[in-house]
Amino acid sequence: MSKRSVAVIPGDGIGPEVIGAALKVLEKVSPNKFDFQEVAMGGNAIDKYGEPLPAASLKTCQNAEATLLGAVGGPKWDNVSPEIRPERGLLGVRAGLEVFANIRPARIFQPLASACPLRKDIADKGIDFIIVRELTGGIYFGEHKAFEINGERAASDLMQYTEHEIRRIAHVAFKMARGRRKILTSVDKANILTSSRLWRDVVNEVAKEYPDVTVNHLYVDNASMQLIRVPSEFDVIVTENTFGDILSDEASQIVGSIGMIPSASLGDNNRGLYEPIHGSAPDIAGQDKANPIGTILAAAMMLRYSFEMSKEADLIENAVDEVLKEGWRTGDIYTDSEHENLIGGKKMCDVIISHL
Ligand code: NAD
Repeated sequence: MSKRSVAVIPGDGIGPEVIGAALKVLEKVSPNKFDFQEVAMGGNAIDKYGEPLPAASLKTCQNAEATLLGAVGGPKWDNVSPEIRPERGLLGVRAGLEVFANIRPARIFQPLASACPLRKDIADKGIDFIIVRELTGGIYFGEHKAFEINGERAASDLMQYTEHEIRRIAHVAFKMARGRRKILTSVDKANILTSSRLWRDVVNEVAKEYPDVTVNHLYVDNASMQLIRVPSEFDVIVTENTFGDILSDEASQIVGSIGMIPSASLGDNNRGLYEPIHGSAPDIAGQDKANPIGTILAAAMMLRYSFEMSKEADLIENAVDEVLKEGWRTGDIYTDSEHENLIGGKKMCDVIISHL
């Protein structure tokens, strides 16, 4: 059987370190299955080609079945002109892959429960939900205007959604709920916003195609409270771009370190983009201090969503659980010198591999 193609963007700072770890894990869990094609993007591409996302790099990503990304950026490129900033490459690759659904799991790893800032009785009930955020519509992409009203400065940003933009993200969320506990919470502000009323109508229409999934609707202000009050009751949350941006940052804090959390961005064509949620962490780059778990879990998401390799994804996630249970910790998640072993990123990768 021919190998599955994966474009790999190591990026800058700790990007190459965490990507190196994820590739080792993939090779161990499924030897010789993947054709990894390394792609220049971010600050390193600016240095080499004068732009953050050379056309050839984007083409490789578009031709691959999935793209795995470390992180880009760093102080070296902070003062380059805005059109060629490393982050431009990031937006370019998301747009070029037409990924409109950002999937961010929020799962508490029991051995790290003490890192959860919520009350112990709440955390102990377990936290395991997924936020499905619409990524290419809404206020971030609507018309932005600065103007004057009666001689004073004014500004407006347009929140706009079309039916088809809502329908396609709703399908992604319902399918995801189907593979989990079959509870979907749609978050909107339908008591105030017309775009939210359309959102709610369309989600209810799509719901008819998924009678096995229970749907409920929450206003975004209430949702932000309930995520802290009863996080264990959430399974899949679907919401528009801005609400999702805010709620997913809230969720990342509920479950602990930024170094632990993966994300996937998906489109209609299944050519997903998978990455950790953290940046290039220039403060620890090159010191073997980066926690590779977020990227390793992003690789597991890639197996699950782009390659239908759920069994292998489970193996990786279980190995991470085991390693944490045994007390292995990188610096960002290390709290207890009596029960934990402080290790570097390379060793963390090796220990995870030894559990596969
Ligand atoms: P950051 O996520 O890089 O770092 C924030 C803090 O978390 C730092 O103290 C860092 O050491 C720590 N940290 C991050 N990842 C870690 C890991 N895997 N293990 C251990 N500790 C980790 O955010 P920042 O400092 O605001 O940004 C640094 C650079 O990254 C900037 O140039 C920014 O533009 C860029 N950035 C890129 C992305 C991306 O590529 N997707 C995302 C965010 C920021």
